[in-house]
Amino acid sequence: MNNRYFALSLATLCLSTSAIAASDDASPSQNAMRDTLAYEITEGLTTEVGQRQGGTEAEQRGRDWAVAKLNALGFANVREEKFDMPTWVRGEEKAWVISPFQNVMAAAALGNSGSTGAKPFEGEVIYFRTFDDLVAAPDARVAGKIVFVDHQMKRAQDGSGYGQFGRARFIGPNIAAKKGAAAILIRSIGTDSHRGPHTGNTNFEAGVKPIPAAAISNPDADNLTRQVMRAKTPVKVRLLLTPQNLGQQKSGNVIAEVPGSDPSLPPIVIACHLDSWDLGTGAIDDASGCGIITAAASYLQNRPAPKRTVRLLWAGAEEVGIWGGKDYAEKHKGTPHALAMESDFGADRVWRVDFKLPDSAKPLADRIASKLASLGITRGKDPASGGADVAAIIAAQDLAVIDLQQDGTRYFDLHHTPDDTLDKVDPEQMRQNVIAWTMVLEEVANYAGDLSMGPKS
Ligand code: ZN
Ligand code: ZN
Repeated sequence: MNNRYFALSLATLCLSTSAIAASDDASPSQNAMRDTLAYEITEGLTTEVGQRQGGTEAEQRGRDWAVAKLNALGFANVREEKFDMPTWVRGEEKAWVISPFQNVMAAAALGNSGSTGAKPFEGEVIYFRTFDDLVAAPDARVAGKIVFVDHQMKRAQDGSGYGQFGRARFIGPNIAAKKGAAAILIRSIGTDSHRGPHTGNTNFEAGVKPIPAAAISNPDADNLTRQVMRAKTPVKVRLLLTPQNLGQQKSGNVIAEVPGSDPSLPPIVIACHLDSWDLGTGAIDDASGCGIITAAASYLQNRPAPKRTVRLLWAGAEEVGIWGGKDYAEKHKGTPHALAMESDFGADRVWRVDFKLPDSAKPLADRIASKLASLGITRGKDPASGGADVAAIIAAQDLAVIDLQQDGTRYFDLHHTPDDTLDKVDPEQMRQNVIAWTMVLEEVANYAGDLSMGPKS
């Protein structure tokens, strides 16, 4: 339905610009209407590098690939900014129901999970329908057991279920560990019904010993729930997880710029993340985002330069703790920025724009919203907040933000699973992202007015 609407609006736009023959005479957003670069970048990164988990050698190959690509595309000041970060890597992972029923489950360890050791752990399952039920449970019920949190995420266009249901992954293992649980299984934080489990990071507080923690696929969670409900005796599970902590390893950000003509104007920073989880090839999360922002910025090159510098941040190690975004803010908080944006929600179409701009820039927001309306994009009512990799620099400088919100209806079918691969990227929807991004950058990079948010009231 959305695709068809988008195809119609794109066809209308293409007709209205069909008189443009030479790309050199066209505006950046007119050139973006023929974009294939975003897909080429996504295809290249996923094909030539593949998975690229933060802190690993694969991520370094990704940075090398990015530096070569951004140089080849003619960007200025292409560079790597390295940092150290604690690195966890997956080992063997298997989970079986052994009593009173028997089956093998599809499981994936969560980032920072503890290890069972080489010998599988066997224990009784204690079932919690929701995350809040786990929080409310007395320690004595949980101690020594394998916690199973059956919290089921719901599909939403804006992906809003992630924050609520994601708690089972973000902090569920820490809570279970503090209550004395031996291990924890969670229903995958995802909206699909496939057997690919959804991995993702979890965190244990200092002083809390990490317990083995894994996500099981949604159909396996359905089955385990039925087994728990039907069993006359406690359900027992055998679990083998052998991840390792490699200590401090190198990660890094890759930075590139389209230089502005007026060095007195602070730059605009646009971000994606270069790293991915290790189960798929990170096509939607987040090679697509890097493709989208890079393609859009490329259309500002070879023109009269934009007034403001547009800086691309291909952040490292986002999945495993947003290390790249924090390192960027630490290294660059001393120099003023004007505005931040990020693409990290797949490659499906942009459906809404949100702004956080000073009141003085209302005409700028109105102009952008009016242009984006031609792509079927509506104007949101809530202020923009930005993505994970720009969160630290936004907080450090109280930056202006524009969010191009993507359709997340199917994002959490694929997120952090073995199914996050290139075939899930729809080139037409991806091109609509590039057009929208280019329209916004054309406006903000040429806006010489003050974008600082001013003192908080
Ligand atoms: Zn991401
Ligand atoms: Zn992710």
